[in-house]
This record gives sequence, structure tokens and C-alpha cells, in this order.
Amino acid sequence: KRAKFPYYKTLDEFKISEQQSLSLRQIQQLRELNWLEQQFNLILLGPPGVGKTHIAIGMGLEAIQKGFKVSFYTMGDLINLLKTQEYLRKSQLQLKTILQADLVIIDDLMYMAMDQREANMFFHLVNDLYERSSIILTSNKGPEQWGELMGDKGITTAILDRLLHRVEVIHLNGESYRIKNRTTIFEAE
Ligand code: ADP
Ligand code: MG
Repeated sequence: KRAKFPYYKTLDEFKISEQQSLSLRQIQQLRELNWLEQQFNLILLGPPGVGKTHIAIGMGLEAIQKGFKVSFYTMGDLINLLKTQEYLRKSQLQLKTILQADLVIIDDLMYMAMDQREANMFFHLVNDLYERSSIILTSNKGPEQWGELMGDKGITTAILDRLLHRVEVIHLNGESYRIKNRTTIFEAE
């Protein structure tokens, strides 16, 4: 219940008409959270601005409402926590909370390349969460490309093995909602 979302938007605020690759029925089914009860993961893929983070937050809010414990981290922040856990008590405590969560949302996986040590620590976290909690991952790259960003092939395979074992993958596409709906301070002619 201590999730810190980057913004608060519900699934009701998600306009399904703006996202052709997802049906209302799919959203309704996902928000019943059976996948969460069964420790399935959810992977949201697609280019920037198509609603990956919005849906992840929406599911997170839904889960909190139903009494689940939810953690939200960007991949960058998560890697930082892992790297500082040895000497920062705050990071240790945050990681402890993550390990106790029912749902861990990791936003923007593979936004940056990881080195071997980071990939190793990430593997240990995924392994600790495996079959105990659900993970929502968002990424603008598909799992087939994660390998090159994690560096080590063996670790990548081990991570993918656990992430993809029980998973629902959703491909979003289309134009960026931000660009489509941008506002301008200039008046239209
Ligand atoms: P990304 O896929 O890059 O994570 P976001 O989910 O953060 O993108 O979406 C970018 C912005 O556009 C957010 O403010 C989000 O609420 C909004 N948005 C995206 N898709 C939709 C949609 N289908 N309906 C309503 N708002 C949307
Ligand atoms: Mg995002």
C-alpha cells in the first residue's frame, strides 16, 4: 500500500477508443486481477506514449483497492536501490517492502543498458519474487531484445525464464497519446 506512482490515473480514465490494440473486454478481464491472485506477471510492450505506464498504474490502484500490497519503481530507481542496498539503510528497507509486495510494478525496463553486476542483482530480485508475487513490466523493447541490454546471456535467459513462465503479454501500439493530444500555447489559424 505504499506505492509511489509517478501520476495517478485510473483504468476508468483510460480511453479504450484511443488504443486500438486493446479491447474493453480485455481491460475488464485484466482488472478482475485473477492474474494477480495466481501470481501471473503482466508485460506491457509498445512505443512511448501509448499507455503502458497508465495501465500499470491503473492496475496498481485497482490492486490497492482490493487490499493487495503494491510497489512501483522505474527500472532506473530499482537498479539504484539494488546497488546501494549494501550501505544505505533506506534502500534496504525499500527492498524489503518490495519483497513483501503482492504486486511489483517495474516501469521502463531496459530503458538503459545494465552491466553484469546490475543484471546479476536484478536476477536475484526477480528470483526472490518468483511465484510469490506478480510483476508488471513495461518496456518499449520486446523480450527478444532484452538480452543485448542485460549483457550476459546466461543471466538474461534465467531472468526471462522466470518472468515469462506465467505471463500475460500485451502489445500496445499506435501513435503517442501525448503527441496526439498535445496542447499548444499558440492559437490555431
Ligand atoms: P507510456 O506508454 O510511454 O508509458 P503513458 O502510459 O505514460 O505512456 O501515457 C502518456 C500519457 O498519455 C499519460 O498522461 C496517459 O495518461 C495518457 N494516455 C495514454 N494513452 C491513453 C488512453 N488510451 N486514454 C487516456 N489517456 C491516455
Ligand atoms: Mg511510461
